[in-house]
Order: sequence, then C-alpha cells, then structure tokens
Amino acid sequence: MTDRVQSILDWIATVPLEELRKHPLHPQNRPEKMWRYYPAKAWLPPICQKNYGKWKKRRIIDPGIVEVTSETGDKLYLVKIIIPVRISTKSMYELLDLADKYGIGWIEASKMGNLIIMCDNEENARALAKELRERGYLVGGWGNRLWNIKICSTYITCTTAVLDAVTIEKALGDVLYEYTQKELPAKLTIKVSACPNACGGGFDAADIGIVGYPASIPMMEGWRIRVLCPPRSLLEACPVGDIKMIKDEKGRPIAAEIRGQVCMACGRCHDFCDAIAYDPAEIGVMVLVGGKCANTGVGPGMAKVFVPFIPAEPPRWPTLVAVIKKIIDVWVANAKKGERLRDFIERIGWDKFYELTGIPKPEDYIKPLDKAPGWTRYGWQPLYLRRTDENKRYIGTRISNDMMAISAAIFEDIIK
Ligand code: SF4
Ligand code: SF4
Repeated sequence: MTDRVQSILDWIATVPLEELRKHPLHPQNRPEKMWRYYPAKAWLPPICQKNYGKWKKRRIIDPGIVEVTSETGDKLYLVKIIIPVRISTKSMYELLDLADKYGIGWIEASKMGNLIIMCDNEENARALAKELRERGYLVGGWGNRLWNIKICSTYITCTTAVLDAVTIEKALGDVLYEYTQKELPAKLTIKVSACPNACGGGFDAADIGIVGYPASIPMMEGWRIRVLCPPRSLLEACPVGDIKMIKDEKGRPIAAEIRGQVCMACGRCHDFCDAIAYDPAEIGVMVLVGGKCANTGVGPGMAKVFVPFIPAEPPRWPTLVAVIKKIIDVWVANAKKGERLRDFIERIGWDKFYELTGIPKPEDYIKPLDKAPGWTRYGWQPLYLRRTDENKRYIGTRISNDMMAISAAIFEDIIK
C-alpha cells in the first residue's frame, strides 16, 4: 500500500460519516460517476410517462392493433409484428423507418418476442398495419389468438443446444399461422427450447411448451479430451459424478470416459467440451401443456409433460407439428370462451383430454418397456428410468432402446 493511500485511509478513519458524505469526492456528490438504479419509467416514451398509471381501457380493433385509452383522454395504438427470434438488420432498419413514418418513433420488444410499434392515432396505425402486411410482415396475435412461437437462441449462440429450435418454429409457424389472426377461446402461447435449460421457456408459463433433450447419454471421443480440455475440469463439470478419468501408467490424467450409470444427460459436459456430442439419431422433444402466469381460471401453474418423447425429425418435424395441431384443435373445438388450455383440461380432466386428442398416456407405453427389477421412479426426463438394485442403490439411468421405434409408431395415426 502506498503512503498516499494509507494517509487517505487514516484521514477517513478520523472523519465523522456525515462529514465524509459532504466531501465532493463522495460518490453521492458525483451522480454522473455512480452505478445507480435507473428507474424503468425513464425509458418510456413521453406519452406513456404522462399517462403512467392512468390507462383505463383497452380495445382490440384489429388482430394486430390494440387501442389503449387513458383517463386523460390520450390514446395509444399498439401495432404488433410477430417476428422470429432472429431478425436481419435490414428488416430492423425497415421497421424503425416505419415506426418514424407512422408512429411516434418508439418500438417495444415484448416478452413473447414480438415487436410493437406505437402510434398516436388510429388512421396511422391502420395504415402501418396495411403497409407491414404488404411488405410480408405478420401483423396479429393480440387478444384471444396465438401470441407467437417463442424460441431460445439455440445453435447460433449456444453450445448446449440438443436440436435446432428454429426449424421447429418455422415448421409450426407455417401450420399455425392462421391462429394469429382468427379468434380462439383464449390467449395461446407456445415456447420452444432446444435443451432442458429452457431459456426459451417451455417448462413454465406456456400454454404449449416444447423442450429438446437427448434420449441417450452423450458420446465422447475420450482421446480428444486431452487435446480439447483438461480431464479433471471435465470431471468437476458433471453434477452426478458419472465421468471417469483415465490415467496413464504414472497416474497422470490422459482422457475421460462417461460411465453411463447415473448420467441424466444434462449436457453440462457437452457444453464444456467439443469432444462430447449427442447422437443425432437419438434426440427428440417433450411436449408440455397448461403452463400460465394468469390468475384467471384455475390460476397460475407450471406446464405438465403431455408427450414425453417425440424423435427429432428436422427440418419439418411432421409428428411434432401434428401433435401440436391436434392439441390446439381439440381445445378450440371444446373449450368455453375465455378458457385457457390449462383451464379447459382441468375442467374436463387429463384422461379425457388424452382421449379427445387420441394421444396415448405416457404410462401406457413407458412402464412396460423396462422389466428391470426394482426401478422406482422417473427422473426429471421422463424417459430416463432410474433403476435400483435389491439394496436400493442406483444401477443405471438409461432410456429403453426400443423407445425411439415405439414413439414413432404410436404417433402414426395422428400424423395421418
Ligand atoms: S434452452 Fe438450451 S439450447 Fe436454448 S439457449 Fe438455453 S441453454 Fe441454449
Ligand atoms: S450429460 Fe451431464 S450427467 Fe451426463 S456425463 Fe455429462 S455432465 Fe454428467
């Protein structure tokens, strides 16, 4: 410590706190230098700041335009553009220009991945929606409609991805396009995540969630480990200790191996090291239904696994698309007005919902597959059967080898 620093510390120790706070160098007196809380309200456009807490009425005047009215008499028109998670800079500049031309120059990015352009009069909002549609943008999704198919960032930025969520979004979007325009019983959200980390959602508050996961433990090229990452670090990355170190005759770590006994295919090792990969022939998705945040109906709740595994079929995902379409069509045909998917299923019962969709219940086809004695319960990935021996020790966590073929067979009728 230098003498100067020491002298400052000595001085600080002698000065009362109140005096210290008045010093011109105290951060409190230099707000421009401080890391400080920046109120969210400050980011709002002037019309929103003026009417903060005063909005009283909301009216949908077009599938893609909502009119909000303030008690001050001000009105705001929100034009919703349903976009994929990625958008080119060219499109972004195009939208910004349109926001300046028709709107008040502000764009909001919504939680479901949509862009909302704000206008201050109906004429401009309608003209904007018309021009957007003419340019090929999807304008819609307000109210009781499909709000968007939201996906995680998947391969482009993420090393954990099990599959490509973008192709799922495209395949589903092509089929579900009309639901962004036509009136449904209630709001509908779909979220897709390419691995069980679920950054894009799926396990939580989505009416329909799609989550990718591997149906077998990762493959490892043991010899490459020593080139690409230190084996000891790899061992530490595995939360269940399923990775074994291979040592040379002098006891030095030279490679690693996945034992496959308690591996739960979490993907941490895959994220950690490029010598570890999923077998592309053994990956797929689970489908979850009924998640929502709203306190309407039966209240908020997490989504539940509806179909535990559908093998990956990129790029058009025919089985998955058929299953999702079936779920929505059954809901649309049978739900009462205002009934979210979860409310509808809770009213008729989960068994009845399986019956109406024609999709078999998971326990009808998962349990009989495993004849190993003593297996106790499913893990968080429903296909991974955690088995124990007579002494209740775990002896393995593996998917049945027949599962892929059986999953394909049971959905054959639905695809037709
Ligand atoms: S959900 Fe998985 S694949 Fe998608 S961004 Fe998150 S970690 Fe990556
Ligand atoms: S996938 Fe997860 S549990 Fe399996 S070996 Fe890798 S880190 Fe361990």
